[in-house]
Amino acid sequence: MSAVIDKLSEESGKCIGCGFCESVCPTQPASGYSESRGARGRVLLARELLARTREGRDLSALTDSFYSCLDCYACFEVCPAGVNAGVVSHYAKEILAPSSAPRNARLIESIVMRYGSLVPARRAMSRWAKGLSIPRRGETVLYTGQMYQTMAYSGRLGYMLNRRVAGRDFAAALVAHFPSLSRSASLFRNRRLAAEMDGHLRDIAALLRLAGVEFSYLHEEEMYPGTLLNDFGFSDSFAKYAARLSDSFRKSGARKIITVDPHTYDLLKNTVPSVLPDFDFEVVHYLELIGNIRLKQTGRKIVFHEPCHLSRRFSSFTAPNDLVGRACDVSLPSRNGRRTHCCGGPDELLFPSTASAVSRRRTEQLAETGADIVVTACPVCRVNIRTGGEVTDIASVLRESASAALLPTV
Ligand code: SF4
Ligand code: SF4
Repeated sequence: MSAVIDKLSEESGKCIGCGFCESVCPTQPASGYSESRGARGRVLLARELLARTREGRDLSALTDSFYSCLDCYACFEVCPAGVNAGVVSHYAKEILAPSSAPRNARLIESIVMRYGSLVPARRAMSRWAKGLSIPRRGETVLYTGQMYQTMAYSGRLGYMLNRRVAGRDFAAALVAHFPSLSRSASLFRNRRLAAEMDGHLRDIAALLRLAGVEFSYLHEEEMYPGTLLNDFGFSDSFAKYAARLSDSFRKSGARKIITVDPHTYDLLKNTVPSVLPDFDFEVVHYLELIGNIRLKQTGRKIVFHEPCHLSRRFSSFTAPNDLVGRACDVSLPSRNGRRTHCCGGPDELLFPSTASAVSRRRTEQLAETGADIVVTACPVCRVNIRTGGEVTDIASVLRESASAALLPTV
């Protein structure tokens, strides 16, 4: 604990209080301009958190301020003092987690530690690969991290977690019926969305094959990466979980891991090695591997929503923009590149009204371009951007373009 207290003290201590970060922090307008839900407020409250921790006082009044941070790092881009309020919030959550984590965060920790999944439905999660003859073992593994598949459950699960049933928290009732949770997971599945998400994964597999990449897949043995354990500040649980995840890759004979979403890519590339020094797998993103495929310009007018975890964490990673530009007529919204705007998704399970307000703001920015279709490269953004029109994943437009390139010209 003392190490994280020192890191929080150092990061928050650099702030000069200028407030530039408030102009870009998506949660501040989404919360009616509450100062404690904005970037500067979080940094200032970190000092209060440190004082209360030193004095052994109750911390729970500070929980919502830090747990509502989207971890989007927009604030860091404009801070003249080099403060990252997202990192401040992360350290704060590590301090808060043992005593004052939100109830739903603790429930999610229990589920992930017990089942190795955010939604205990591993067989359903692996259904997308049926009929594709992907081997179970191999040096290069395609790792979905269950992220696309989980999106088919997150809407209903989030709704139920945030309501009360017969005067009781639904979450409490869920815990009471824990043993049956894996059997009841299908109740939360949105079948239409599940089919779309499975389709995106099949498109990714097809693109990799077109690029000549051979890969295995762990099917129902594949584990969730543990992203929310880390995001919610459960550092001890996350370290134990990361060791289990690493073992699962090692047992499969994998040396190279192909990730498919920005959150898992960031976690395996940057975070897991920092808690598990022997995590020595090569970690890549599938879009890095398919630059050699032939694409045909389809002329579809799209607006590309760049995910925070790619555009800011990996700002030199230009493959998504390069590839989509070869396939479609691309517009970018006013906030793009390193200044991209979060979709709101990271708040969906704990602060759904904030998530919706952030999503609405981003949707307005995307609509201003006048493009027909929104395309993104993240399953979380894919379900949280709701325009009323078509929103799809980059894998699907690339596969369509690659298929068109294979057709003979007449
Ligand atoms: S921009 Fe940086 S220095 Fe200014 S208030 Fe925000 S965190 Fe503090
Ligand atoms: S990481 Fe994002 S949500 Fe969190 S304080 Fe910074 S800008 Fe606001």
